[in-house]
Amino acid sequence: MTQVNDTQQTIYDNNNIFAKMLNGDIPCHKVYEDDKTLAFMDIMPQAEGHVLVIPTQKAVDLGDLAPEYAAAVLMTAQKIMQAQRQVFAREGIVQMQLNGAQAGQTVFHYHLHLIPSSIQELGRHAAIEVDHDQLAATAKQLAAVINA
Ligand code: 5GP
Repeated sequence: MTQVNDTQQTIYDNNNIFAKMLNGDIPCHKVYEDDKTLAFMDIMPQAEGHVLVIPTQKAVDLGDLAPEYAAAVLMTAQKIMQAQRQVFAREGIVQMQLNGAQAGQTVFHYHLHLIPSSIQELGRHAAIEVDHDQLAATAKQLAAVINA
């Protein structure tokens, strides 16, 4: 497990929002899922098409992620990126992942960000919630490419 200090949340909280999504307790705009991962739209995207990939493992950050889940997250990330490249007709996709509150992590269940953007054009982090109809439509488009 990650070491405990004063500034970071290091103990896994079963009530975090991503845990609730995995349990089906709160909804998400799902793009893809398998037995080890779930991918869904970020509701406060840093660019259009911003997707989060999470493991089903209860991991706070990279330090806790078991190798088989790390592999599964990256395999799902490849599917998502391929779909984003097709749907948004662009090559550039930012892959980002924050470890600890000090790094800016706000949800303490490990997640990979995949953002159709350049690093210079990234919008503000977790700042502005966008229209859910648009998120649902994008999730559907990305899922259709993955399932084609
Ligand atoms: P972190 O700061 O932990 O790296 O990223 C957390 C991400 O979760 C942010 O990009 C934020 O916009 C996103 N987020 C926060 N609350 C929710 C939510 O309720 N649903 C979804 N889909 N994303 C969320």
